[in-house]
Amino acid sequence: SSDEESREEYLFKIVIIGDSAVGKSNLLSRYARNEFNPHSKATIGVEFQTRSLEIDGKEVKAQIWDTAGQERFRAVTSAYYRGAFGALLVYDISRKDTFQNVAKWLEELNAHADTIVTRMLVGNKCDLESIREVSVEEGKSLAEEQEFFFIETSALDSTNVKQAFEIVIREIYSNVS
Ligand code: GDP
Ligand code: MG
Repeated sequence: SSDEESREEYLFKIVIIGDSAVGKSNLLSRYARNEFNPHSKATIGVEFQTRSLEIDGKEVKAQIWDTAGQERFRAVTSAYYRGAFGALLVYDISRKDTFQNVAKWLEELNAHADTIVTRMLVGNKCDLESIREVSVEEGKSLAEEQEFFFIETSALDSTNVKQAFEIVIREIYSNVS
């Protein structure tokens, strides 16, 4: 019945990966709680945060996982990726090395890609235009080559943060519904 249909719910696990200090935890706190922490060091505690949105009248919950600092030790385990439908691969547009390391994160992602249907390359800290080291074109062309979505964001001033997550969530939804 239509009553049953309207109660339908979706839960999608999404993981955030990328080098230390690119802004992964702040992207998540900006999206999930509209908070930014200028002094955040390593991520403490919370493994994931959940945010719901409505698509086609259905409740879609995104359970978004943060690395809790393991990326410093290259110790992100397969449990982290298990069951994930989406991935945000983040670099910092003001630090070229974090963009060069995207290749390593790609390898890791591909090794755990069994359930991942949607990938987004995210150039964070786009508010730091004056000290930019990675051009928009470089980000775009890598994403095209890998068939990823691409977006530049700022967790500091909120630019495109909602879009980064919701493009992924909507794409997963359209793939599984
Ligand atoms: P993580 O290690 O990838 O989780 O990175 P964090 O979220 O802990 O952020 C690392 C540092 O970068 C912190 O000092 C943040 O305040 C800062 N940061 C995060 N996002 C942005 C951003 O969009 N713009 C600027 N200017 N700084 C940011
Ligand atoms: Mg963190």
